[in-house]
Amino acid sequence: MTATQPNQAGLTSAEAKRLQDKYGKNELSPQKKERFLKKVFHIICEPMFLLLIAAAIIYFILGEPRDGAIMLIFVAGIISIDVIQEWKTDKTLHALKDLSAPHITVMRDGKEQQIASADLVPGDLMMICEGVKIPADGVVLRCADLCVDESSLTGEAEGVWKIPTESTEPAKDYWRRDCCYAGTLVTQGTATVQVGQIGAQTEYGKIGLGVAAAPQEDTPLQKQTGKLVKTCAIIAGALFALVAVFTWFNIPDHPFADRLIESILSGVTLAMAMIPEEFPVILTVFLSMGAWRLAKKNSLVRKLPSVETLGAVSVLCVDKTGTITMNQMTVQETWVATGTEQALIETMGLGCETDAYDPMEKAMLRCCQAHGISKERLFANALVREYAFTNELKMMGHVWRRDGELVIAAKGSPERILMICELTDAQRNAAEAEIRTLSAQGLRVIAIASAHPENESAIPASITDCRLTLLGLVGLADPPRASVKADIAVCSRAGIRVVMITGDNGMTASAIAKKIGIPGSENIITGEALERMSDAELREAVKTVSIFSRVIPEHKMRIVKAFQENGAIVAMTGDGVNDAPALKYADIGIAMGKRGSEVSREAADLILMDDNFTTIVETVRDGRRIYDNIRKAVGYVFTIHIPIAFASLLAPFLGIAPAALLLLPLHVVLLEVLIDPTCSIVLERQPAEEDIMDRAPRDPKEQLLTGRLLGKSVLQGIFVFAASFGAYFLTLSGDPVNAPAARAMGLSIIMLANLFLVQVNSSNHDFAYRSAQRLIKDRVMWAVNLGTIALLAVILYTPVSAYLKFAPLTVTQLFTAVGLAAASVLWYELVKLAKKRKFKS
Ligand code: ADP
Ligand code: MG
Repeated sequence: MTATQPNQAGLTSAEAKRLQDKYGKNELSPQKKERFLKKVFHIICEPMFLLLIAAAIIYFILGEPRDGAIMLIFVAGIISIDVIQEWKTDKTLHALKDLSAPHITVMRDGKEQQIASADLVPGDLMMICEGVKIPADGVVLRCADLCVDESSLTGEAEGVWKIPTESTEPAKDYWRRDCCYAGTLVTQGTATVQVGQIGAQTEYGKIGLGVAAAPQEDTPLQKQTGKLVKTCAIIAGALFALVAVFTWFNIPDHPFADRLIESILSGVTLAMAMIPEEFPVILTVFLSMGAWRLAKKNSLVRKLPSVETLGAVSVLCVDKTGTITMNQMTVQETWVATGTEQALIETMGLGCETDAYDPMEKAMLRCCQAHGISKERLFANALVREYAFTNELKMMGHVWRRDGELVIAAKGSPERILMICELTDAQRNAAEAEIRTLSAQGLRVIAIASAHPENESAIPASITDCRLTLLGLVGLADPPRASVKADIAVCSRAGIRVVMITGDNGMTASAIAKKIGIPGSENIITGEALERMSDAELREAVKTVSIFSRVIPEHKMRIVKAFQENGAIVAMTGDGVNDAPALKYADIGIAMGKRGSEVSREAADLILMDDNFTTIVETVRDGRRIYDNIRKAVGYVFTIHIPIAFASLLAPFLGIAPAALLLLPLHVVLLEVLIDPTCSIVLERQPAEEDIMDRAPRDPKEQLLTGRLLGKSVLQGIFVFAASFGAYFLTLSGDPVNAPAARAMGLSIIMLANLFLVQVNSSNHDFAYRSAQRLIKDRVMWAVNLGTIALLAVILYTPVSAYLKFAPLTVTQLFTAVGLAAASVLWYELVKLAKKRKFKS
């Protein structure tokens, strides 16, 4: 760690800007945008729109271009709503992508800064460390223990130990040891790298790897509703034929062409009313808005399907250190075995990395400082050898030359350190007793040992070959986060099991688990025991055990599998490079935004920006809320389509003349313009039900549209149908002259009922007035409600009404309509009341 480079300060922002203008962004392929017209075309190809356009064309053929034109205006309206909605979701998803895009630390303007990897320019000084996926090619200026996995580039599985560029070793291979390459992975150490090539100019870019990004796949719910829409379309097709034939026989006195066209038109109206084309829109809007709302709460969703899976999570596997605890360690206890406390602490310091980033080592160095041993003093001498820390060994060491004398300073888990120490039985027993005492307090215990080899040739090749003197133990406290206890109680009520995974020893883990209220804190599976278990044994064991200690990342995968085989939906946290497979395998892989490695973030479904357990629980709650709201919206869409569909279905059977129908295609479109935005806006905003975390996780196999939900929707729909169609039928009293007034009556009732319906269906338990109250200050909700009323006023009481074949309602009629609309929906409040009564008793 020498070498003073001329450009320590890195680039200035102005230089970086200039270089970016010259070389472009650090991306393999610039993001493509879908063309606007293509999008519109995509929407028009949906069956619903084909029907609408067909209806408009029929109007033109019928010689009613005015009706056809109005129809097309509405179609344009619906298309714009759809386009706006899609544009908004696209924007949201892009913004989310940018948030979770890789970042890198660089030196700019003389300061260390985090920038998006895409903004790297040639000449930048980037700092890389363990877990970073290198974003550009460059030369290594300084490095410490830098080991890089270049297998993605060279196929070579063995890690490459890098050297600084000024080293005298001749560069003979194509893959240089003093360079780092984009797309490769830092598995150990730290370095400062000066960026050379970016984007497509990198070796990685030249191979053309990773250019084709995976397309966004449909989520399980999207697939489910896709099927649902198809089923509905098939039924609609059959009913279309039925209604068309019936109408044909109903109007024998019309001329042939008229008869044909009227028949088709009646059929089309029904088909339009039957296709729930809102479903796909609801899903994209709810899921992407959900992801957006989560992002604002520190939880970044990387894959849209995760939003729906979240609500079904039944097991939460979390790392103890940093997620459950604050990751703010302090040396709390010391126990001296040999020598003085001062010597123990100094050796502990010598065993730390010179540029420590591990919170535990930082705590140790702080402790040294407090005892008057500065970092400068500790690391002033020459480092002769390093025994690197590995998850398997759980210990590490340094060999220093201090004042002409060689010192091995080792630290690590007591089990391992004690194995390489020379101890009498009495000493060993004393140490082990102390380890138990410290662990039982929930402290992480680290053993410190040292030796003084005669000369360099007497330094053992590996740490396990050392014979050391045990100097003593230190106990480090890492207090649990304040909110964790309450969160675990919430999880218990919500039927979610919290499983703690840690590299610490069992007693420490157990003590912490007890502190935060994880049930069964005395049952522990250690990494060793886990290794001896068969998959079947582990599957049995995880039914009761919630604590895993002395675990290495590779074990996490088996733990996830065991839970999944028991039918659980598993969320698993991870931060290290080796956690990536388990994160991929879990239903919800959660990476840490702060201390996590880039690789773990890339493998994860969710990135936790604040590394906080509370945020995980909040995210699960939101997942449940979003799913709830999707179900509410789907139920609502079903309900509101029923009066429309039944009206068009029933009319021909009642012998109503085609011109006197309650709903002409025109009016169906008018209603569609209203329905779509109402539900996707108002229901999307609904806050969580109060009992949302008091019920068990949803069964992952459960269908979105259950029999119960369908039953409720159909019943509600029938009531609205009865009110609207009844009012229409009575006003019509068999005379087509009354059609405009009758239609105005029926349609106003549907539109007003729609307003009430959204409020009533906002919550499954709470009364409509409560739901309305909760969103009383929500401007969007007011806009939707007042918008409906304004629309009603326009279509009834302005010249527009004649174009739409309405007659203005009298005051009595209007009040009747309001009353009927309210009654047709609000009866459901009585059902809620009855349910509440039953629940109480
Ligand atoms: P966790 O999963 O709880 O973060 P780790 O895997 O980081 O645990 O650490 C597991 C064990 O390895 C620790 O309990 C400690 O005994 C040992 N250990 C961790 N980091 C170091 C280190 N820097 N030096 C020595 N020992 C360490
Ligand atoms: Mg750790």
